[in-house]
Amino acid sequence: MTETDKLNQYLMEQRARLIMLLRGMGIRDKNTLSAIEYTPREAFVPQALHQHAYDNVSLPIRYGQTISQPFIVALMTAHLELTGKERVLEIGTGSGYQAAVLSHICRRVYTIERIRPLLVEAERRFKQLKLTNITSRLADGQFGWPEAAPFDRVIVTCGASEIPLHLLEQIKDDGIMVIPVDSENGDQILKKVTWNKNRDAAVITDIMDVRFVPLLPDIDNGES
Ligand code: SAH
Repeated sequence: MTETDKLNQYLMEQRARLIMLLRGMGIRDKNTLSAIEYTPREAFVPQALHQHAYDNVSLPIRYGQTISQPFIVALMTAHLELTGKERVLEIGTGSGYQAAVLSHICRRVYTIERIRPLLVEAERRFKQLKLTNITSRLADGQFGWPEAAPFDRVIVTCGASEIPLHLLEQIKDDGIMVIPVDSENGDQILKKVTWNKNRDAAVITDIMDVRFVPLLPDIDNGES
C-alpha cells in the first residue's frame, strides 16, 4: 500500500467514525448525516491538515478564517429541516464545506463570500467535486441576494451583531434562518429565526452558545 492509499483508507475510517460520533452527540436527522457522509471534508482543509479532516474541531483556512466544527455544521444543517426541495442562501462560503454538505440535500445553494481568494478556491472545489447546484458570488452577504430571493432557508456561518433585516426579508413566510448572533455579555448564540403568522414579527429561539468568526462589512480582494 502506498502512503496515499494508507491516508485515504484512514480518512475513510475517520469519516465513518465521525458519523457515529455525531449520532452520539444527538444529531438524528438522516439527511444531515448522509450529506456529511457524502462530503469529503479533506478536500476543504489545507493539505497539511488532511489527517485531521475528520476531527470534530474547526480548522484554520486562509485569511484568518475557519472551516466550522463538524458538529456545528451538522447541528445547523439539521435545524434547517431540509426535505430536498429547498433553495438555501448561505452567508460565509469560507472553504465551501457547509455549502457542499447542503448541496446534497436541497435543490440549490446560493452562497456569498466577502474574501475573493477564499471564494475562488471554494468555487474550484465545487467544480472538482461536480457540485453543480451551488451558485456563488463575491459580495457583502448582509444584503442577501435580492435577485434570487425569496429563499426557503438562510444559514449564516459568521457571527452577526444582530439579525440582518435584509436576510429576514428574504426568507419565505414558512422559511427558516439559522444564525449566530452576539449577545450582550460578549458570547455568541446560535439562533433559529422564523416569521410569525402575520409576517410582522420574527420568532426567535436559542439553540446553543457558539463561536464563529465575525460577519464583516464590504468585500476584501485579499491583497493586503
Ligand atoms: N461556511 C464556511 C465557514 C466559513 S467561516 C465553511 O464551511 O468553511 C465564515 C466566513 O464568513 C469567512 O470566510 C468570512 O470571510 C465570511 N464572511 C464574513 N462576513 C461576511 C459577509 N458580510 N459576507 C459574506 N461573507 C462573510
